[in-house]
Amino acid sequence: MTRKLNFSSGPAALPEPVLRRTQAALWDLDGTGIGILEHSHRGKAFRAVMDRTTALIREVGGIGDDFAILFITAGATHHFSMVPQNFLGETDTVDICHTGVWSAKAIAEARRFGNVHIACSSAPTFDTTPAIEAYSASPRYVHYTSNETIYGTQWPTPPASPPAPLVCDASSDIFSRPLPLADHGLIYAGAQKNLGPSGISLVIARKSFVATRRPGLPPLADYMTYVTEGSLHNTPNTFGIYMIGEVMAWIREQGGLAVLGERNARKAALLYDFLDHSKRWRAHAKPGSRSNMNITFRGDSPALEAALIARAEERGMSGLPGHRDVGGLRASIYNAFPEDGVHQLIQLLDEVEG
Ligand code: PMP
Repeated sequence: MTRKLNFSSGPAALPEPVLRRTQAALWDLDGTGIGILEHSHRGKAFRAVMDRTTALIREVGGIGDDFAILFITAGATHHFSMVPQNFLGETDTVDICHTGVWSAKAIAEARRFGNVHIACSSAPTFDTTPAIEAYSASPRYVHYTSNETIYGTQWPTPPASPPAPLVCDASSDIFSRPLPLADHGLIYAGAQKNLGPSGISLVIARKSFVATRRPGLPPLADYMTYVTEGSLHNTPNTFGIYMIGEVMAWIREQGGLAVLGERNARKAALLYDFLDHSKRWRAHAKPGSRSNMNITFRGDSPALEAALIARAEERGMSGLPGHRDVGGLRASIYNAFPEDGVHQLIQLLDEVEG
């Protein structure tokens, strides 16, 4: 069987060596005679997996002891409500950068708990990561989405001079480049793009920020529970934690985040350069705000886009139609997506353009 070239936005392509190691660990984890899915979360073997995964995340991300590494069952959507539930009182205000579908969800959930001030917005086209218009007088925290998976924009650097800790939804670009920790109170990311399987999120939380959460929350809704109990208050997603560890080991083998950051920038630049010089294809996002992870683009007619999708399917390229709400096309090229696959897509775009 030949595997397809997978442009899916998530769950997405994972590194081949990780998949092979995982296959083996399903049968027998580290020579224990028991597979990873079958090990108790309280046992010695899983404890070793948890310690190894956490240590690798710290090493690869350059994350010190002032931050806690948390594994939370459920994806990033969970944090759209969990963050304000923890940090936003009824009379508090959160400043949110509105850059698309995902920030809209964060805004809607925050409004259930307190006040929302839109610090900047790229609506309705969502083709930039906008400059801050104005922060509110004393926000509780400032929320942004580092990479807008659907519209294909990515903050080159985090919002500048925030008057309160930054909270970042990094679901679609975490560990794709060096991690900006300064100014951040909390970074959360669903795992199914650059980290592992769906249904688990990684949270990198500044301990002093977590300490300011509202007390008295139910244990699984309280970030502090995960800090004090090492993400083991209940049975965690053991398999997800194992896979995140394997992905981290792969990132280290590749040379770390600086190397991946350069590689991802190079892969994306190939495609943007082709689109910018094409007569019939054009990129959606504006230069300076373009995502290196999700390249969104359109053809000059629905027929051209349909022709591309049909030809791509014939060549074993999958996942290119854009999100159902915005249409067009989208090539998601996360860490594990091979550079050669980008060349193959460019060749196809060129052929279909005629
Ligand atoms: N935020 C961003 C930026 C995303 O790309 C996604 C998923 N595509 C989510 C949040 C939601 O993730 P989940 O469905 O795992 O909750």
